[in-house]
Amino acid sequence: MKTNLKLISAFILTLIFSATAIAQNNSTLRIVRGKTDTVFTPVHFVTGVDVPGSAIYINDLLVKQYSTGSFGAELSLVEGDNEISVRSVKGTTEESVKFSVHFKIAVPLQRTKTDLYYPNRLVMTKKGAYLNYGAGEDRLGGAKINFLAEGIKLELLDSVNNLYKVKLSQNGYAYIPKQFTENVPFGTKPPFSLTSSWSVTNAGKADRIRIALQERQPYIIYRESDPNRLMVEIHGAACNSNWITQYLDLKAVDYVHYRQTAPDVFTAIIYLKDKYSWGYSVDYVGNSLDITIRHTPEPTLKGMVIGVDAGHGGSATGAVSTSGLREKDFNLAMTYMLKEELEKKGARVVLSRSEDVDVSMQERVDIFKKANVDLVISVHCNAGGHPLKEMGTSTYYRHIEYRPLAENILKRLIELNIKNFGLIGNFNFALNAPTEFPSVLVEALFMSSLPEEELLASPKFQKDMMIKVVRGLEDYLSEVKKSLK
Ligand SMILES: [Zn+2]
Repeated sequence: MKTNLKLISAFILTLIFSATAIAQNNSTLRIVRGKTDTVFTPVHFVTGVDVPGSAIYINDLLVKQYSTGSFGAELSLVEGDNEISVRSVKGTTEESVKFSVHFKIAVPLQRTKTDLYYPNRLVMTKKGAYLNYGAGEDRLGGAKINFLAEGIKLELLDSVNNLYKVKLSQNGYAYIPKQFTENVPFGTKPPFSLTSSWSVTNAGKADRIRIALQERQPYIIYRESDPNRLMVEIHGAACNSNWITQYLDLKAVDYVHYRQTAPDVFTAIIYLKDKYSWGYSVDYVGNSLDITIRHTPEPTLKGMVIGVDAGHGGSATGAVSTSGLREKDFNLAMTYMLKEELEKKGARVVLSRSEDVDVSMQERVDIFKKANVDLVISVHCNAGGHPLKEMGTSTYYRHIEYRPLAENILKRLIELNIKNFGLIGNFNFALNAPTEFPSVLVEALFMSSLPEEELLASPKFQKDMMIKVVRGLEDYLSEVKKSLK
């Protein structure tokens, strides 16, 4: 009997060991963040995922595991090598991962810059050209001034990485990406114009201001809210306008005036009737500068055309959460919920993508411009920051005139008892850049935050957020309506 018992227990032990071996072969514990060879900051996050219901220990301390299976910890590193262990216990099986992270105090890098001199050299703008204030860079590019029409000649001053520094007027310069310029024959003179007659007309759904020039001059255009006007600085131009025709059936434009703000800068000042802006566009027709300002539509969702953009798609996954959920899928799902809610209110919705495909930023802008949308909402999820804390929801605008739109939507979103990450202005997002239509970017919550990943993974919560976006939009439209009385 004794021998038999021993045999049985030996057999059981073998079974347990082979089960452990099988579990290790089908390893489910995955480290997502933190397995970095060398880091330059002592605050270090380790996140990972395992089947829900596991007990996870990071450096022998039990950490919280979320319903998505994600877990994480914040570690404080010492200079040099740091040993980190992650252990996961699931019933009788156990897995562990060990790795080492080296913390090094960083030495600041020197910025690279090339200085070249281009005497009397000019370039000409191509489709998609825009001006930047400086040669600075960030994730989405340097800070933009505005887009420029095609065929504008600019004098070169310098070259900084992929940008040309160009002269706009005697005291004005800006930066332009080289890819949006082409060379012009050597010896071409910089453009200069005397302004000629203007006309201000009602062109149907917009008012149009046309200023005749002798050549295509660069311009800087911006909206001011108090006084309520659009300023158009035409560089390399001097006033010679003695005739400004203004018709009486104008809907967007109250009246126009000008100021010679520098000897070679002519500023057209366009006073507007309505407090809220519905977009404007600038282009050249021959050598005449054409500024089109859209009339305020009926401020109700019924009959309005709304562009809805699901961020990323196809090979562009966007952010990926700790448990492997993809931003592009959340964005698309929320976009359909938003579409449904907007259609219930009688709006017509134009999607920039209706399935999991790649669509470039330029294609998205073109889809919305072609559909002549009244307004654009882009849906994304955020990433970055603290992985163990709630980071919050946020809305973004690029042009100051769309701040109230972003603000109204944010106010409704935070009613869901989520953190307010902020109302973010001057944001350099490609879909916020066009001036042709009002736009807002909604960054629902953070994919990288474990508690928010759990919320985002709930279709019910996604839907609640989109209902709040529509409520915010309605609040905005009633503000617009009140302003018209
Ligand atoms: Zn995104």
